[in-house]
Amino acid sequence: MNQPGMVTAAVLLLGGLAAAQVAAAPAARARGVDPQIAAAVRRVSAAQIEANIRKLVGFHNRNTLSAADPAAIARGRGIGAAREWIKSEFERYSQACGGCLEVKTDSFIQEPADRIPRPTEIVNVYAVLPGSDPENAKRIYLVTGHYDSRNSDTLNVEDAAPGANDDASGVAVSLECARVLSRYKFSATLIFMAVAGEEQGLNGSRHFAKWAKAQGMNIEGVLNNDIVGGNKTPGDTLQDANIVRVFSEGVPAAATEPELRLLRALGGENDSPSRQLARYVREVAQRYLPSRGFGPKLIFRRDRYLRGGDHSAFNEQGFAAVRFTEYREDYNHQHQNVRTEKGIEYGDLPKFVDFQYVANVARLNLATLASLASAPAPPARVRLLTKQLENDATLAWERSPGDLATGYEVLYRATTEAEWPMLGVQNVGDATTATVKRSKDNVIFAVRAVDKKGRKSLPVVPLPER
Ligand SMILES: [Zn+2]
Repeated sequence: MNQPGMVTAAVLLLGGLAAAQVAAAPAARARGVDPQIAAAVRRVSAAQIEANIRKLVGFHNRNTLSAADPAAIARGRGIGAAREWIKSEFERYSQACGGCLEVKTDSFIQEPADRIPRPTEIVNVYAVLPGSDPENAKRIYLVTGHYDSRNSDTLNVEDAAPGANDDASGVAVSLECARVLSRYKFSATLIFMAVAGEEQGLNGSRHFAKWAKAQGMNIEGVLNNDIVGGNKTPGDTLQDANIVRVFSEGVPAAATEPELRLLRALGGENDSPSRQLARYVREVAQRYLPSRGFGPKLIFRRDRYLRGGDHSAFNEQGFAAVRFTEYREDYNHQHQNVRTEKGIEYGDLPKFVDFQYVANVARLNLATLASLASAPAPPARVRLLTKQLENDATLAWERSPGDLATGYEVLYRATTEAEWPMLGVQNVGDATTATVKRSKDNVIFAVRAVDKKGRKSLPVVPLPER
């Protein structure tokens, strides 16, 4: 091992790395990279994620109807044991950061319903990392996955239902974001969540979202990770390990009749708050993951064709929420009894999960949460003034609540463009009104808040004001 030639090679390699880092630093600054967030991204561990997915699979069957009595918990079988373990992980992370996390449960009895034959206790487990700034701590960003699983029969609580991809992978993303981000402080509040009842009909997330709405909680964005395992069935050449799909609703599920009339009149069907959140995810990927060659493919649709997920429960209550799902699903490894038939292996087993892929999904979630929670709040009451017909456009807004903003940017794009261009952004300084030499007939505008370090809020599309 101590050959002189190898030592020389190692020294040369180190020299090369150092030079590359020096060159990379200004480029990173120009992209608006926050060094603390970049450091947090590097802490995400594929090995930790793999261990968590294998642990969840080890509970054998995590059907929402499966055992949750003390004996089953002691034996490490069923959904009760899974829930207690998730809670203990959050508590462990909290101990490591001097009690920085508030570990909580949202527990309720679901009365009999479709796929729920008898009254069943459903428990959502979550950890709160309170914002460090009292005003901004009211703003909340939430990451979630579902810890319940199922096999071929939604009511089967006996046979294996490993749910490695669906959705231990999503729970592992929530856990890893909590483990890493609990070492840092952010202005806004973060919630790391694992819900149950998804496979029975989104019961857990629906309960929490309704409760959050009733509490007046200001949840500004929800990231739902469901089936983010990057399925790697041998012989599947169409999977793409560099892409995660991000689904977002167009017309908001919670829009009222008058709001729908306005959307139709303005051509606003492509600019829901959920879609702005999806676009934000894309910008974050460009900022923090370019060297990994990994990023989102935005899908302008609420969810996969005629299928559903927990983000929709938040959309129904008027919250911006998106869904992350692997590029290509394999239905032999979803909602299937573990078996081999005619040489085909069925079942949602860890061996089909690409743990490096899940780690990249976790990095993207983590960078998005950290960016949102360090950035200023979006500007309030953004309006496009239409008192007189003119070819310029005058926008007005109220300052970003919480006082983190030092300036504002006006964005615009052609009505046929899908995403906010990197160009087409006008910095208007610390103002609450701006006139742009663009016809409001031809483009879509938005305004976002920026702080002194260049961290950007979610953009807000204006409403017309006469
Ligand atoms: Zn699922």
